[in-house]
Amino acid sequence: MFDVVVVGAGPAGGSAARAAAAAGARVCLLERSAVPRYKTCGGGLVGLSADHVGIDLTGLVRSTASALTVTLDGRYEASRGRRDGRPWLSMVMRAELDAALLAAAQQAGATVRTGVQVVGLAENGDAVTVRVRSGADVRARVVIGADGTSGRCGSYVGVRCDQVDVGLEGEFVVDAAMADRWAGRMLLDWGPVPGSYGWVFPKGRVLTVGVIGDRAQGAALRSYYRRFVERFGLAGLPREHDSGHLTRVRAVDSPLRRGRVIVSGDAAGLLDPWTREGISFALRSGRLAGEAAAATVAAPRASGPRGVAALAGYPSRIEQILGPEMDAGREVLAAFARRPVVMHMLLASPGTFGLFTRLIEGRTTVARQLRRPGVRAAVAALSR
Ligand SMILES: Cc1cc2nc3c(=O)[nH]c(=O)nc-3n(C[C@H](O)[C@H](O)[C@H](O)COP(=O)(O)OP(=O)(O)OC[C@H]3O[C@@H](n4cnc5c(N)ncnc54)[C@H](O)[C@@H]3O)c2cc1C
Repeated sequence: MFDVVVVGAGPAGGSAARAAAAAGARVCLLERSAVPRYKTCGGGLVGLSADHVGIDLTGLVRSTASALTVTLDGRYEASRGRRDGRPWLSMVMRAELDAALLAAAQQAGATVRTGVQVVGLAENGDAVTVRVRSGADVRARVVIGADGTSGRCGSYVGVRCDQVDVGLEGEFVVDAAMADRWAGRMLLDWGPVPGSYGWVFPKGRVLTVGVIGDRAQGAALRSYYRRFVERFGLAGLPREHDSGHLTRVRAVDSPLRRGRVIVSGDAAGLLDPWTREGISFALRSGRLAGEAAAATVAAPRASGPRGVAALAGYPSRIEQILGPEMDAGREVLAAFARRPVVMHMLLASPGTFGLFTRLIEGRTTVARQLRRPGVRAAVAALSR
């Protein structure tokens, strides 16, 4: 029997396994795919992600952006570059980042089993039985679900989501001239579907290009993606990958724990509702989950609620740390969905463009900005 089983080897699972193993727990991480595995993701590391990743990013960062262009469905272009050349955003390939996080978890002492798909969980007494497809059950005192948007652990815990988006994205292989044109520059486009947006993230000879928005508007999003790709002359180029993936944002009062099972990252619906930035949420919630699990197994054995006291504190830690950021993201998304032109003009204006880049860089948060006098009221008025 293990102390902790972690399900999933994304940034949430890698961080959770590492934190729990570093705190002395016997950890086993189960991942259904072979690693490295592809994940549909822009791979954009905002400042908060770089701050919380906990590993050396040298060699993983494919490129950085210190210039940003924003447009509104291709119009009203505004650009800004950083004079000191320091980056606002770092771009990675998720397969490489996740494999490096997993290696760090192994170094901390976690056992990793890949090609193992979890099919169910059952609690009995003070243990959880993790059922896997074609293999023996694995038992643990605590399970951390980090198995992404459509995972088993979220269903077991009863996670409820009230925002479901679909992201459509391709990795386009470009020639040297086009790679040069995009070097050091990223583009964000507020899309035609309310609350949607598109991005171009350069990664050397690959451009990661995608759009994300309300899943219910699937046909309109596919058309937006097609036009977005054509706009940059990429339609005929080879694509290393072209895929779609859901993101789900938890409802405010959605559970994060059931008994001895806690959830983190996308499995818990933890991501910014506006930007759909999820890596920093996965890294932070994964670490908190790993620490809570290790504290639970280190505590003297007790039965009943006392036996999981540290786990019981995990949801409130998440609410306290990530809750305000998610609330703020919801408010800004509502304003964007309702008044895209005004919001674009505001963010692209000389006074606030700098604020926007400070947000990307992690030097401030939307939650902090909304606490400034008048700002929350203005955003609320725009969303009406
Ligand atoms: C198109 C798109 C672009 C995005 N771009 C960005 C971006 O640029 N920056 C950013 O910060 N965020 C971005 N995000 C969000 C980000 O990708 C996610 O929030 C992040 O991957 C969440 O990490 P995670 O570890 O919780 O889950 P995941 O990365 O999804 O990892 C879950 C893991 O669990 C495994 N798994 C699933 N089910 C099982 C099972 N039953 N048994 C065993 N293993 C299982 C999966 O194989 C996977 O390895 C984007 C999302 C989309 C859809």
